[in-house]
Amino acid sequence: MRKVTNLIVGCGLSGVVLAERLASQKHEEVLIIDRRNHIGGNVYDYKDKETGITVHQYGPHVFHTNNKEVWDYLSNFTEWHRFMYRVKAVIDGIEVNIPFNLDSLHKVFPQSLANKLETKLLKKFGFNQKVPILQLRQSNDSDLEFLAQYIYEKVFLGYTIKQWGVKPEDLDASVSGRVPVYISRDDRYFQDRYQALPLNGYTAMIKNILNNPLIKVELNTDFASIRNNIEYDRLFFSGAIDEYFNYELGKLPYRSLDIMFKIHNCNYLQSGPQINYPENYDYTRSVEYKYYLDEKSDKTIVSYEYPYSYEEGKHERYYPIPDKANQDLYDRYVAKAKELKNVWFVGRLGDYKYYNMDQTVSRALELFKEI
Ligand SMILES: Cc1cc2nc3c(=O)[nH]c(=O)nc-3n(C[C@H](O)[C@H](O)[C@H](O)COP(=O)(O)OP(=O)(O)OC[C@H]3O[C@@H](n4cnc5c(N)ncnc54)[C@H](O)[C@@H]3O)c2cc1C
Repeated sequence: MRKVTNLIVGCGLSGVVLAERLASQKHEEVLIIDRRNHIGGNVYDYKDKETGITVHQYGPHVFHTNNKEVWDYLSNFTEWHRFMYRVKAVIDGIEVNIPFNLDSLHKVFPQSLANKLETKLLKKFGFNQKVPILQLRQSNDSDLEFLAQYIYEKVFLGYTIKQWGVKPEDLDASVSGRVPVYISRDDRYFQDRYQALPLNGYTAMIKNILNNPLIKVELNTDFASIRNNIEYDRLFFSGAIDEYFNYELGKLPYRSLDIMFKIHNCNYLQSGPQINYPENYDYTRSVEYKYYLDEKSDKTIVSYEYPYSYEEGKHERYYPIPDKANQDLYDRYVAKAKELKNVWFVGRLGDYKYYNMDQTVSRALELFKEI
């Protein structure tokens, strides 16, 4: 029987941050295993051989946070390429800023109507406000209600149906109501204080986080294949919690994506890094990677995302599906997990929560403080 002090399942952000803390702060040995053949989990990136452009294998990742502790922590392991993300959506055949802002308003409506709506928005809510369309709907003003309905149908509805595969009537009104109109010309997708990409890519940052002689990484290793032959003082499991328990209580569902990468023989294909397609095509968005790190090449590489329901062995688990039945099932797994003495579940799959990267890092840092 093999014996280790700390066993970490999953070499994604959750696993590597925990490993780094245990090794550098507690001076303990850590073994990280991952069933994939690379480190980094879903933030894994690599340089495409043909174009030399850095590509994110599991979909586009832009780091953004207001959490200074997380920003400072990761800054120990990477230099940053400062990058404010800008996203556009094609609606009625026109590219507009997302979130829908005053510039979007003027692009899609005739000038007289756009002016009227802008004046009403400014008067009712003031400049630089983000107003959810639910609030517009309740404004007792037929023009603003019209605008709310327009944004709901054109920006939100089609994209969400593609992404989540649900019928419009199944969409929770509270979710759709949160879609904002931004009374400003600010066209940044995120408003966080810190927005950037690791200068040399995520994989290089992860390598630096793992750079401690007390940390050992074993790839191509599934927990199932070793669980009966290994003993540990502590196990941190960043895989799926239902899988750990052999799906005893049932399977937690996920949405997944097929991501198709295409090399185009031109300098740039798109007007910006990300274009959303709420109305056209079967893919939700296309992402042109050379914008990310401002890389130069006479070719360009673009990814197209086709959403699917997750099927084991066929897809990756990408997005936990937040609804009451799934939460109840997850809570029952958590109750079982509490019976275990030296096992902690963590991360997007372990906690069955859609964490952005900063939330993932923060969760791992907080968990370390608790043990
Ligand atoms: C398409 C997409 C786009 C995203 N874009 C952004 C973005 O722009 N900005 C942002 O902040 N966040 C983004 N995120 C979120 C980000 O990917 C996560 O916050 C982060 O990667 C979570 O890290 P993790 O370690 O918890 O999970 P993961 O990265 O999933 O790592 C878990 C690892 O565990 C391994 N594993 C699982 N089970 C086992 C097992 N039984 N045995 C061995 N190994 C196992 C897996 O192979 C995997 O490598 C995005 C996520 C997706 C899916």
